Amino acid sequence: MRAEFLPFHLPEFGDEERRAVISTLESKWLTTGPRVEAFEQAFAEYVGARHAIAVNSCTAALHLALEAAGLQENDEVLVPTMTFAATAEVVHYFRARPVLIDCREDTLNMDVSAMERGITPKTRAVIPVHFGGQPCEMDHILEVASAHRLTVIEDAAHALPAEYAGKRVGSIGEITCFSFYSTKTITTGGEGGMVTTDNRAWAERIRMMSLHGLSRTAWKRYEAKGSWRYDILAPGYKYNMTDLAAAFGIEQLKKADRFREARARIAAAYDAGFSDLPEIRIPTSLPGIGHAWHLYVIQLELDRLTLNRDGFIEALRARNIGVSVHFIPLHLHPYYRDGHGNRPEECPMATAVSERILSLPIFPGMQDADIQDVIDAVRQVVETHRRSL
Ligand SMILES: *Cc1c(COP(=O)(O)O)cnc(C)c1O
Repeated sequence: MRAEFLPFHLPEFGDEERRAVISTLESKWLTTGPRVEAFEQAFAEYVGARHAIAVNSCTAALHLALEAAGLQENDEVLVPTMTFAATAEVVHYFRARPVLIDCREDTLNMDVSAMERGITPKTRAVIPVHFGGQPCEMDHILEVASAHRLTVIEDAAHALPAEYAGKRVGSIGEITCFSFYSTKTITTGGEGGMVTTDNRAWAERIRMMSLHGLSRTAWKRYEAKGSWRYDILAPGYKYNMTDLAAAFGIEQLKKADRFREARARIAAAYDAGFSDLPEIRIPTSLPGIGHAWHLYVIQLELDRLTLNRDGFIEALRARNIGVSVHFIPLHLHPYYRDGHGNRPEECPMATAVSERILSLPIFPGMQDADIQDVIDAVRQVVETHRRSL
């Protein structure tokens, strides 16, 4: 057994990020400024989008995207139940209603036929989440959305970099939102987010609303060439990214491909390490996609084991392996279950899989010995708790 605890995730950064942050500090320009502009340009180019707007979280990005799309009170937004709190909470900011959609059993992405059944005359938008870094079936989603005039806002918090039909996530749908939270595939030093779109009017609205609804280049008012004058064009929010965060992000973006290769290698090692165990269902990745491998989620075959998922997690922790669960589906949380009248039967697949999923560590800093320790620990737990059939 490992002597030291292997955390579920550790962010990966080095001297490049340290130097970039220190030189930003020394420049004395700490908040939104030239580094944010440079990060936005590099990001737009990387994903192949016309516009990129940096903000301080993916939650802020989702909020601004819905605002730009014109969401109104009492509107409905289709949201997969298999996601984090943020994807649905932003809908409540408008006094609108998230309609929770069941998942597919294999990829855990939103089930597109369940999505179609969720459409009513009040539906205005859909927020597909690329679960774990595997792109949703975007052709089908965009087709259904266009037939019903729904705005498609992708929650790509897990999906940098990821590809679908030869296109990178960030350049597929109408608006895409990314997260640079500490545990995501790249970070801006703890908190950060980005919106990408090809729609110029939306990009301008999002940029303006991200900084108090001020006229476009308001941050330049403190520069030698900038004007001190600004106009308030709408009551906006305070969602701008700092130059300190952007400096960190610029260096992380340069490493995004390398980080993905490292995660893909870990996923392949896990696949091989568990392939002979009928108790473990390894993640399904569909052909023709580029997977970001933000998460490696296994499904336990509980009828073949003498312990449940929570017991499995405890047994791995006892072997010094940090694990997590993505996610307890939204419809099973107290707020949505009790306050919102969502019943477990409404999303039967997510209800069933939520009992048997578990996420293993997958981050670029893992050494070969760490990967082997995870494989050994999972195998030992299975072998100790195998049910004789
Ligand atoms: C992390 C996460 C978010 C929120 O990202 P923040 O940058 O922390 O606001 C949104 N959606 C999903 C699916 C996430 O995993």
